[in-house]
Amino acid sequence: MSRFWSPLVSTLVPYTPGEQPRDRVFIKLNTNENPHGPSPKAVEAIHLATGDGLRLYPDPLSGDLRASLASGMGLSPDQVFVGNGSDEVLAHAFNAFFTGKAPVAFADITYSFYRTYCELYGIESRHVPLTEGFGVDVADYTGEQGGVVLANPNAPTGIALPLDAVELVLKQNPDCVVLVDEAYVDFGAESAVSLIDRYENLLVVQTFSKSRSLAGMRVGFAMGQRPLIEGLERVKDSFNSYPLDRLAQVGAQAAWEDHGWFDATRYAVMAERERLTVRLRGLGFKVLPSATNFVFASHPGHAAAELQAALREAGILVRHFGAERIRDWLRLSIGTAEECDALVAALDEILA
Ligand SMILES: *Cc1c(COP(=O)(O)O)cnc(C)c1O
Repeated sequence: MSRFWSPLVSTLVPYTPGEQPRDRVFIKLNTNENPHGPSPKAVEAIHLATGDGLRLYPDPLSGDLRASLASGMGLSPDQVFVGNGSDEVLAHAFNAFFTGKAPVAFADITYSFYRTYCELYGIESRHVPLTEGFGVDVADYTGEQGGVVLANPNAPTGIALPLDAVELVLKQNPDCVVLVDEAYVDFGAESAVSLIDRYENLLVVQTFSKSRSLAGMRVGFAMGQRPLIEGLERVKDSFNSYPLDRLAQVGAQAAWEDHGWFDATRYAVMAERERLTVRLRGLGFKVLPSATNFVFASHPGHAAAELQAALREAGILVRHFGAERIRDWLRLSIGTAEECDALVAALDEILA
């Protein structure tokens, strides 16, 4: 607390990111990073762009990257917006579409940054309880509201919503923006991008951090009809004209165009997820069906916080959230086969 802080800053409760330890080498299964590394072509493109050219500002519109994203998605470049990680894209979307409106609806258990953006921008929010089994009931997303945010698949539960359910939410809310955060969609869910030409209220947000293994580079993007993208551009150009540096623009484009690497690595993650799920169930865990690069698991005989602490002792970081409905659960990111073997071995020992 400082007397120099504004009243708003004094009330903020910032998002707490997962631990990034610097003192000791852990098996990191706590922040949903991809264990397989980025496309070698992305790394090569970044190397080639590292040099005297960094003297110059980057393209403020990220034109080549947006054209490439658009062509891959069957959209036009002016239907794509890029930002410094999808967190920044989400923040701009909350600012552009939800301020000064009725409460924005999102699940009680979902990506906690949504609440943080609401506080930052003074947006009222309505926290819609997930069902008993942590599912979304689309009937809860009706009535007068200033917007809807769906993480699909949801985090930290990992559960995906079918496309027809997302479409129902769009139909039920023609007068507000429905933001679908598809950070994990490439690991087995259906994208809402195919609905963009039919729903002017749809904004789909994706990221290079998870399925393209570029969390360290910070590139996210949004897709929607032109008026929504223009709204995001107005906010961006009132905040930071150059959110993507030169290296990020070329690195992201090369990663996006390397379909072979993308498919090989995401399918490897999905296969490892299924292998880990079976083994965790064998140890007595309840594991939710996941369409992401993590699993959400709970053990009836052991407190999740204690399991997390014991795993840390064993050199393995996993994520535990203190919120009431999920305090018995651990979020375990999918690592390499060796990392998952080490996780299962450690849990086997701790449970014994
Ligand atoms: C990881 C994540 C993001 C943020 O990703 P960045 O692009 O790295 O900022 C957004 N939404 C959800 C649900 C996530 O899990």
